[in-house]
Amino acid sequence: MIWNESVECMSREEMRKVQSIRLKRVVERVYHNCEPYRKRMQEAGVTPDDIQSIDDIVKLPFTSKKDLRDYYPFGLLSAPMSEIVRVHASSGTTGKPIVVGYTRADLAMWAEAGARCLTAYGLGKNDVVQVSYGYGLFTGGLGAHAAVENIGGTVIPMSSGNTEKQIMLMKDLGAKALAATPSYALYLAEALANSGIPRDEFQLKVGIFGAEPWTEAMRKDLEAKLGIKAYDIYGLTEISGPGVGFECECQNGTHLNEDLFYPEIINPETGEPVEPGKEGELVFTTLTKEGMPLIRFRTRDLTKLIYEKCSCGRTLVRMGRILGRSDDMLIIRGVNVFPSQVEAVLCEQEEFEPHFFITVDRVNNTDTFEIQVEVKEAYYSDEISKMLNLQKKLAHKIQSVVGIQPAIKLVEPRSIERSQGKAKRVLDKRKFQ
Ligand code: ADP
Ligand code: ZN
Repeated sequence: MIWNESVECMSREEMRKVQSIRLKRVVERVYHNCEPYRKRMQEAGVTPDDIQSIDDIVKLPFTSKKDLRDYYPFGLLSAPMSEIVRVHASSGTTGKPIVVGYTRADLAMWAEAGARCLTAYGLGKNDVVQVSYGYGLFTGGLGAHAAVENIGGTVIPMSSGNTEKQIMLMKDLGAKALAATPSYALYLAEALANSGIPRDEFQLKVGIFGAEPWTEAMRKDLEAKLGIKAYDIYGLTEISGPGVGFECECQNGTHLNEDLFYPEIINPETGEPVEPGKEGELVFTTLTKEGMPLIRFRTRDLTKLIYEKCSCGRTLVRMGRILGRSDDMLIIRGVNVFPSQVEAVLCEQEEFEPHFFITVDRVNNTDTFEIQVEVKEAYYSDEISKMLNLQKKLAHKIQSVVGIQPAIKLVEPRSIERSQGKAKRVLDKRKFQ
């Protein structure tokens, strides 16, 4: 099923026309209503007249996360406060969060984007969706919530936490879909198994997972543990929230709502566009936002774009899986390591749970790389030799994937803290030295 066929299946040519018209409009808007944008464009020697088609986008300067911090809280608004009806904020690891303002039309646009996602997952007005993303400043909860209401489904506004109640309501209210971070879904899967309630008392069939990177291996794991089909949903606060992109039934890349959010891939070092199909940093321009439109916002997410038509019939561009944000990448003894690589290895090994915690430090001028890993109940043993064998095997496996050998510390089942939102899986002590 397709929510908005005329847009989602539009010819590439038609799409470019729509994008061109909208780009001109949004550039006019920021130029005339947002001082920092006007200044930036003047410094770059561009005026709105220089933007005649979507190809002219490369003339425009980038916007970075730092800009959002520098103009905290409302410096990048392009609408008067009287038109702003909602704010959200992204957590931000240190200091002030990033604050985003939405007009009524922005919220409607976001709900449209979300409706396209849910429809692609096969959900409709007869379905109950449990939203277990956190509600509040985080965009996950309210974003998914609006999407369910827009398709006319029934939303259970659970938010995260209170795991027992999550399981009870999921069963009693007949939730067909669960929207959560993959790490919280993993936690709920454990809770569901431990509840002892037979699986056939649940109606659950669909997982709506995103807000953090997750791997194909994790998808298989979650699908097996929950007995569902798990779909990707992608989004970020600065651009709106969940619903910027979604997987269709083909699960061959994440479609981007490119009539609303124009994607580019650039070389993160030079800022130049990469060749089509090549990996790089994802950049978005919001084409219709009023409250806080962003021009060429650098997401720091690393991926590639696929322009071929998808077998689902949608022409919307797809992006490949996100390996991680460039900020998540650890450089350990000169080697680039993404936590998602560790996740993928753990999901493929029978003996371990995909619960892990990476600690990086520097001792005697050498980086140390330790991974705490939970061993499955059935494989956990008091026999040292057995544990040592497991340890060796895993260290070797991880080395073959990431390129350097970690020190593996095996821990008991359920001893690593479970995440109810976005998982925190890394402590880089070098940052504090
Ligand atoms: P914060 O910056 O505080 O984490 P956001 O919710 O805005 O807050 O985070 C958005 C980021 O989350 C994205 O830029 C991306 O790195 C990650 N993300 C969101 N959805 C996905 C997804 N489906 N797959 C991989 N990463 C995702
Ligand atoms: Zn598709």
